[in-house]
Amino acid sequence: MAYKSVKGTKDLLPQDTLAWQHVEQVIRTVMESYRYGEIRTPIFEETAVFARGIGEETDIVGKEMYTFVDKGGSSLTLRPEMTAPVIRSYIQHSMGEQSSLNKLYYIGPMFRQERPQAGRFRQFHQFGFECIGQQAPECDAEIIAIAASIYQRLGISYSLKLNSVGDPFCRPRYKEALQDFLRGVYDHLSPESQRRTDTNPMRVLDSKDERDQVATANAPVILDYLSDESRAHFDRTCALLDELGISYTLDPRLVRGLDYYTMTAFEFVSTDLGSQDALGGGGRYDGLVEQLGGKHTPAVGFAAGMERLLIVMEKNGYVFPSSAPSVYLVGMDDASRAWAFRSAIDLRTKGIATELDYAGRSLKAQMREANKLACTFVAIVGESEMAAGQAQVKDMRKGTQESVEFSRLADYFTKDTENAF
Ligand code: AMP
Repeated sequence: MAYKSVKGTKDLLPQDTLAWQHVEQVIRTVMESYRYGEIRTPIFEETAVFARGIGEETDIVGKEMYTFVDKGGSSLTLRPEMTAPVIRSYIQHSMGEQSSLNKLYYIGPMFRQERPQAGRFRQFHQFGFECIGQQAPECDAEIIAIAASIYQRLGISYSLKLNSVGDPFCRPRYKEALQDFLRGVYDHLSPESQRRTDTNPMRVLDSKDERDQVATANAPVILDYLSDESRAHFDRTCALLDELGISYTLDPRLVRGLDYYTMTAFEFVSTDLGSQDALGGGGRYDGLVEQLGGKHTPAVGFAAGMERLLIVMEKNGYVFPSSAPSVYLVGMDDASRAWAFRSAIDLRTKGIATELDYAGRSLKAQMREANKLACTFVAIVGESEMAAGQAQVKDMRKGTQESVEFSRLADYFTKDTENAF
């Protein structure tokens, strides 16, 4: 029987991981410049972390989580997202007591039992960052600026949608107005949205069902209901984005139904992605730390899919850096093969990527292999080279060849910037 990776999961092979490592490196460089520290939490958590942290009413908790009971009888869940684990960890380690502002980022796999389709997987990867401790609009604008900067560096064009979901003081008034409106168009709504009219009316606005979109075209918008505080926060966030030259469109349908979400909500979308067009999104969640058992702490964050980012980069013909220069050592008899084995280890210790033959192949076959592996240099050693203590070094890019003493090989391979490893 031939085993295959589970539906909705993917192997990343060496030819794929080169691109992934490049993207991860760009993310890390940007995060470090904003002085974010990396956090790595376990892949699974107690189920309650997500049920309370994402909300029982959401699709993720309702139907997409990989939840299982372990042998000790605990209900555990493979993480479907990272904000709840990050906040769980923030509370557990009393980070708020050590610093009034904690800036954390992550890159890693997430798990959701969704119907697999283009751009939607069951194990996928997210990068994201959370700024915990302050409510200043500067934090919101900065979170958006970081995401924009990463996309820009990776050559991804995007559009940014922005909204405010208000706060627990103004939202009830809006919800009431929205519910009144939805009851008026009730017969035109999808059954799911009819149900949500009572339970979570704001979610009706981001329904993908065309019936709902038509019926709610003239629904009241939350921006008209913001409290003075939320309005001032939103205006200042917009002004900061304007100053930074980050363009956005206001999207009153960008809503989150849960009470712990507050003020800023945003999403980056790409036209290169088809129906699953969300690159990433985020917003402010001033009520979540409290929801998970900590002290009231304002926070804002962002999460994005890695696979979708790579899909867009490949579509755009992004030129990923090729692998570092490398050396292939060719031995032709027992003595020179033994030399090749010793020297390969010596060169690798000096940081030079080195290949050699383990199969006793002929000179010709080794040269073919070096070519196939796209090695930058080939050093050939036979009986006479062993006697002279020199290798014949071929520069595969230039097609030139010269003799180089064994003791000078490492220097030779790294001698100028062109050869630099
Ligand atoms: P969310 O946590 O649902 O807001 O998702 C944040 C981002 O993660 C999305 O914008 C996508 O880029 C990505 N994402 C979410 N779910 C999946 C999935 N099943 N497969 C691939 N990427 C996903």
